[in-house]
Amino acid sequence: MAHLSLRGHSLGLIHGVLFDKDGTLSHSEPHLIQLADARTEEIIRVFASRGASSDVQAELQDLLKRAMGRCDSGLIPDGTLAVASRQHNLLSIATIFCLFDLSWPQAIVLAEEIFDTVDRLHKQSPTKASSRTPLPYSKELLNELHSAGVVCAVISNDTHHGIEQFLHDHGLSQFITGIWSADDTPCKPNPGAVHGLCKKLHLNPSDCALIGDADSDLLMACRAGIGCALGYVAGWHRTPDLTSHQYLIHHWQELRVEQAQ
Ligand SMILES: [Mg+2]
Repeated sequence: MAHLSLRGHSLGLIHGVLFDKDGTLSHSEPHLIQLADARTEEIIRVFASRGASSDVQAELQDLLKRAMGRCDSGLIPDGTLAVASRQHNLLSIATIFCLFDLSWPQAIVLAEEIFDTVDRLHKQSPTKASSRTPLPYSKELLNELHSAGVVCAVISNDTHHGIEQFLHDHGLSQFITGIWSADDTPCKPNPGAVHGLCKKLHLNPSDCALIGDADSDLLMACRAGIGCALGYVAGWHRTPDLTSHQYLIHHWQELRVEQAQ
C-alpha cells in the first residue's frame, strides 16, 4: 500500500488500483477507428452484394457511424465502440440491420459473420500491435505503484486475450496482478465485476482506487464501494465528458506515489 496524491491533494492510503484499459492505460483510439471503419466497409460490401441501392448504402453508413460513435475527427469517447464490449457492439449493429428489414435471427447471424471476418483480417494486419500504445507515463506510474507495494489490476471490456496481449506487447505484465475482462461474469459495468476482481486480489474495494475514462466505469466504482473513483481524461482526441468522478486526472504525472511507512 502507499499514499497517493493528485496535484498535491492527498487521496489517502491506497492498497490497490483498478485500471480501465482503453483510453486509460492504452491509446486505443487509432486502433478503434480502424476497427469502426473496417466493420463499416465490410457491412456496406455485404449489403451492396445483396443489391442495396446507393441511397440505402449511404443511409446505412450514416447510421453505423452514429451507432459506433465514429465522428469525422475520430471516435466519441463515451460512444458504443469506445466503451462497450464486443458483444454489446454486435447487438447494437444487429439492431441497425433490423431497421433494414432483417429479422432478429438473420441480423444476429450477419453481425457475427461480419465481426468474425473483420477480426480475421485485423489479426493479419502488421499494424495491430503498434496501433495500441500505452498512454504517456502510464508505464512509469505502474512501475512506481508496483514498487511501492500497491496491487495493480486491469478491469476492461476487452477480451482476456486482448488485455494480456496489450500488457505483454508493452512490457506491462510484470506490474499487473489481476485481470477482469469481458469474458468474466459479470462484466463491466456491473459492480459485481469490481467485487469479483477485488476478491481475486484479496482486497477490500474501499481500500482501492479505480481509474477509468467513462462514466460507466466511475458509476460502477461508486456502486461497488470503491474508496476513490478517478476519471482519466487524456486518452482521446476529444476530452471525455465525465460527471461521476471524485477527481479528474489530466496527465499521469499529476499522480504521486509515496511509500507508506
Ligand atoms: Mg475506457
